[in-house]
Amino acid sequence: MSRPVTATIHADALRHNLASVRTHAPSSRVMAMVKADGYGHGLETVASALRTADAFGVAAIADVRRIRAIGLEQPVLVLSGFDSPEDLEQLRALRADSIVHHPAQLDMLEQADGEPIGCWLKVDTGMHRLGFAPAQVRQAHARLSAARGAAGDIVLMSHFASSDEFEGASANSRQTRDQLQVFAEATAGLPGPRSLANSAAVLGWPGSHGDWVRPGGALYGMSVVAGKTGADFGLRPAMTFATRLLAVNRIRRGERVGYSATWETPEDMAIGVAAVGYGDGYPRLAPAGTPVLVNGAPAQVVGRVSMDLVTIDLRGHPDARAGDPVLLWGEGLPVERVAAAAGTIGYDLTCSITRRVDFLQG
Ligand SMILES: *Cc1c(COP(=O)(O)O)cnc(C)c1O
Repeated sequence: MSRPVTATIHADALRHNLASVRTHAPSSRVMAMVKADGYGHGLETVASALRTADAFGVAAIADVRRIRAIGLEQPVLVLSGFDSPEDLEQLRALRADSIVHHPAQLDMLEQADGEPIGCWLKVDTGMHRLGFAPAQVRQAHARLSAARGAAGDIVLMSHFASSDEFEGASANSRQTRDQLQVFAEATAGLPGPRSLANSAAVLGWPGSHGDWVRPGGALYGMSVVAGKTGADFGLRPAMTFATRLLAVNRIRRGERVGYSATWETPEDMAIGVAAVGYGDGYPRLAPAGTPVLVNGAPAQVVGRVSMDLVTIDLRGHPDARAGDPVLLWGEGLPVERVAAAAGTIGYDLTCSITRRVDFLQG
């Protein structure tokens, strides 16, 4: 028997979400973020569906090669850039752009020969991962502008730490305001396009949009805003993760279900066993109460998630039978809700789907 676990990727939802991003940020160009295999949706599938995006953003040079291999010619930005002259050579050969976040990269660009590459100068405005400190930005920009290996029109960019806290919504929204302020001061008077906004900023911080927005999650229909789902912003889920019931069993009251016997039947009842587990990427830490849809109607996981199976409380589903469809997330059950139950975010769940799952297009 083949496993019935499927991840169906909806090109029409991806396109709808791109159109929605353009409506939110009408004056900006859109770089579609497709790192981590298109947030787990499949890089080629996603990039093809989003072929009208103005550019793509990836984390690895190998991803640029995959995008070029399907015939897409628009700019591709490699987020962590290059860390050797060989990498730089590969970027040039693939006509890729690079983030420049470190002085060692400036050295390499100054010593490079051959065609210059497009550069995005990263400013650390308070996230404190990659980027030049605000006080170093002018000097870095001057060096980059003069470097033989860097093309003109350097994009000035930064990344937000807390843009999911919307303007005025909470104390944390101060962090985004501070980052905007730091960026404005560090780059004042410097020429070139600006880029700051991730999905949450596209949706909630219109003042940050600038010349390029860089949405990821929103394109896949996900929200990172606490308590909200993509649907609250008119977005549609790009993935349906689904399986089937393998068995429906009558279990007596007071019996324990699953590994470590963590869940006890409160009454005589039906337990459904569905063919999905952490071996497919379903979150092992999803606790009892995590939502699923059985035949389109709400039900809950009970007991521990195991490698190949989950157990489901089928009280209220008297007609459920082996073979019936179980929706794990997708239209009607936002991945954000499943993620919230499992103590994580939707991005983590879609990125975690494993290779044994059948990817379909639909
Ligand atoms: C991943 C990423 C984004 C997109 O973030 P979302 O929250 O998915 O919209 C934007 N910019 C950079 C630099 C990123 O790494």
